Amino acid sequence: MSDISHADRRKKRVKRLKRMIVASFFLLLTIPTALCILLVCRLHTMSNELMEMTAQYEAQLQITDDMQNLLDDEKSNGRDEKSAKDATGTDGDAEDEILDEATLKADEPRKVYLTFDDGPSIYTEQILDILDTYGVKATFFVTGAQAEEHPEWYREIVERGHTLGMHTYSHVYSDIYKSKANFIRDFTKLRSYVKETTGVDPKYYRFPGGSSNTVSSTDINILCEYVTDQDMVYFDWNVSSGDATDPMPSKDRIIANVTDNVGKHDTAVVLFHDAGDKYSTVQALPTIIERIQAMDNTVILPITEETEPVQHKKVNTSEED
Ligand SMILES: [Zn+2]
Repeated sequence: MSDISHADRRKKRVKRLKRMIVASFFLLLTIPTALCILLVCRLHTMSNELMEMTAQYEAQLQITDDMQNLLDDEKSNGRDEKSAKDATGTDGDAEDEILDEATLKADEPRKVYLTFDDGPSIYTEQILDILDTYGVKATFFVTGAQAEEHPEWYREIVERGHTLGMHTYSHVYSDIYKSKANFIRDFTKLRSYVKETTGVDPKYYRFPGGSSNTVSSTDINILCEYVTDQDMVYFDWNVSSGDATDPMPSKDRIIANVTDNVGKHDTAVVLFHDAGDKYSTVQALPTIIERIQAMDNTVILPITEETEPVQHKKVNTSEED
């Protein structure tokens, strides 16, 4: 009797031990696998963010270069005008003409375009409310991230009178920039979605990372040409709010990034992001609009056919046709 119960107990112990071994084995296997999956996902998001930040940094360098060239040009123009005057003596008519030109330029208002990438998101509605409060229209370069869950967010942008442009359906750099075919697939998917959902055939495009991005493994000129051939104008930016940097900058930093730089351009295209993790952008927006509206001879407009495109990279135009 005691032999049997002793054997039973042993069997139970062995069983328990077996179960423990299986459980520990299972845990040892699943925990690292789950961690790996999490890390891969995080890596993927971070590499996308990094690419966008690199592209924006490069674009900023390009803008600084352009401004330096412009300054050099202006300086040498000034010198040329002065030497022309010295050679011919003061010509009253020519002087009037120069004066007229200066007045004309001063009379033309500075145009500021507020543009929002990566949305719509939970913050888009708040941004639309702020824009309404100040009677301002803006431009939204949307992705397809909320296409299935929230089609009403896309419709609202259009219904409230703003310009809706495209910024890729997937926003996955490694996919869309891998080949022209991938780019076209993504482009067509978003275009059809926007058309079906909002009734608007989009006319404006923004490349993730801008047309000056160096992460595209497909020649960006080919993609610029494709977009242009589709009767779409691509827009980059010449003022960055810096709200795509990691960690997210403070509201005050965003305000300064925009308001310190808008005045440097006759046509200022400001880059913001209305993604779901950009709360500082929402907080900064009222002050930014108030300060721009307080600037002399300055208007805030949505992108339209009249807008002079701001492009980091121009489409190579052929001389033959
Ligand atoms: Zn983006």
